[in-house]
This record gives sequence, C-alpha cells and structure tokens, in this order.
Amino acid sequence: MADSKLQIALYWGAACGGCDVAVLDTDEFILEVAKVADIRFWPIAVDGKYRDVEAMAPLELDVAFFNGAVRNSENEHIAKLLRAKSKTLVAFGSCAHLGGIPGLANQTTKEEIFDRAYLHNPSIDRNGDTVPLTVVGINSEELRIPEFYRRVYRLQDVVEVDYFLPGCPPAPDQVRTVIGAIAQGKLPARGSVVGASERTLCDDCTRKKKEKKVREFHRPWEILQDPELCLLEQGIVCAGSATRSGCGVRCPNSGMPCRGCYGPAPNVVDQGAKLLSAVSSIVDSRDPEEIERILSAIPDLVGYAYRFGLPASLMKRSVHP
Ligand code: SF4
Ligand code: SF4
Ligand code: SF4
Repeated sequence: MADSKLQIALYWGAACGGCDVAVLDTDEFILEVAKVADIRFWPIAVDGKYRDVEAMAPLELDVAFFNGAVRNSENEHIAKLLRAKSKTLVAFGSCAHLGGIPGLANQTTKEEIFDRAYLHNPSIDRNGDTVPLTVVGINSEELRIPEFYRRVYRLQDVVEVDYFLPGCPPAPDQVRTVIGAIAQGKLPARGSVVGASERTLCDDCTRKKKEKKVREFHRPWEILQDPELCLLEQGIVCAGSATRSGCGVRCPNSGMPCRGCYGPAPNVVDQGAKLLSAVSSIVDSRDPEEIERILSAIPDLVGYAYRFGLPASLMKRSVHP
C-alpha cells in the first residue's frame, strides 16, 4: 500500500442492514474516518466485488467489521476470506456477536423454514412445489447458490474473532469510540468486548429498586407505568440484570424493558438462564398452579430469554428428532 491510511472493510452476513445504518448514523464522523481510512469493501455502500477481496494479499486489510450472523455458505465463505485478509476482525452487532434475531430460527428446522417460505406460505396465492437447490442446470450451464445451513451460527463459531462490539445495533457513540480507538491503536486485549461496560444494565439504570415480588406479568402497553420504578418490579420482564451495560440504558430510560441486545453481563455464562432465574425468583407464590398461571402471562419465554443470543446459549438450538 502506497499510503499509511487504515485499510478497512465492512460486510453484512445474515443481517437486517441496521448495523450498516449505525455506521452511517455516526454522521459527519464518517468523513473523519475517510481521512484516516480507505474503505476497501462495503457491499451496502461501495461497489466492491468479492473478487476484489480475493485478490488482496493476506493481512492486507487492517480491520474488517463483520455484522450479521452466519446463516449460509456464502456468509461463512466471506467470513473466512475477511479473516485471512485482515489483521483485526471485529464482530459488529448482536447478530455477529451472539447470533442475534436470526438466531431465533434455531428453534425450528431448515425443512420447516423452507416449507413455510416456499411450499405452504400463507401470505402468497400460489405456493411453489420446490425449495431452493444449491445447484440447478439451466441451458447446459450450472447455476450455484449458497447452501442454507441447518442452523444459525455466531461469527466466532466459524472464524477466530478479535473483538466484539455488541448491540442491536451498536450505539453510534460506541461505534465512534471503537473506530477512534482502532485508528489510534488503542484497543484492549484481543478477545475483548469493546464499546461496552463491565457492569450490568441494572447497575447503571436509575429506576428505583425495592423488593421484587410479582404476582402478575404484563406487556409494556398493558399497564400505566410508574416512570421511576424498576420495570421488573412492575411485572414487565426486563433483562437488565442479565445484560451487559454500555448502551446508555436506552430502553428502560424510554419506558421499554431491556431485551438484552448487549449480550450477557460479565461473568454470566448463559444470558437466558440468568434472566429466567431472575424472573422465577420474584414470583410471589409457592403454589405450583398459581406459579404456572403467573408465568403463563409471558407469551414467548425463549423469545424473551434468548432474543439476541440463542446460538450463543448453552443449548444453541432446539433439539428435533
Ligand atoms: S445486530 Fe440488529 S441491527 Fe445489526 S444486523 Fe443484527 S438485527 Fe440488524
Ligand atoms: S430490571 Fe430493568 S428497569 Fe429494573 S433496574 Fe434493571 S434495567 Fe432497570
Ligand atoms: S436497554 Fe437492553 S435492549 Fe435496549 S439497547 Fe440497551 S442492552 Fe439493548
């Protein structure tokens, strides 16, 4: 490379695009980035091709930011390619860090997903009679498409990851801080979660905490909230005690419960198990039937407990015969 600018790449795997928008949300800071870095590959914003990355020398890139989970063989191929070409690989956002929202698909099977999308899709008039094949012959040519995997993986399940930047998406302030730290060579030890805190969200939440005793759980819109009291104490399931702080307590400060997108709090092995343990411990009853009734008001226990991290959990996926 003729100049000394940082050489960076950004890529999306199984993603919604929100993480790329989070980078753009850094506003004019992106122009500061352009002063110190060449963006060599960014499919959502720059017309780079895979062959451009393939042609790079090993470790030619200084940093690659990978957002999105690994859902198919194309995601895995680009993850391995960027790993080979980059000195530093950052898992950017909840999907790359923990499997994210796409990881909730690990509750079902590839066959059920294909059946719902292509064979018996209630939202379209005429369903097809076949599902995508990885190889199709057309006019004596072979058309190949990526293989849809049986489950969703985190980035670290397929390649070694140097840093994890949590959040769905990461807060723009954190993106600025981390890119700034990279530009100045001030990143912490490899393997660290960056742009976040070593505390739990509850530690930083200013809502009042009293004795937690709950006889009824509610969805946020079902009750008139006390704006100063802990949401969990009001029967609204909030993942703050199981979740790493660093987002600025965005959701509870806006009257919404934390859903856990910053991932497990430090020293928490399984974020969902920790949340379920916190929820169970505040149920104010010793009668099994009543406990069942109280807990049944939580409509989607897996969705609450593992909203952003089922592939990162001890279970990783539901077991199907
Ligand atoms: S972490 Fe959130 S914002 Fe980023 S790609 Fe995944 S779902 Fe979208
Ligand atoms: S459970 Fe939620 S609302 Fe309650 S203190 Fe923790 S973060 Fe705040
Ligand atoms: S409060 Fe929870 S869900 Fe909301 S942004 Fe912060 S970590 Fe994510």
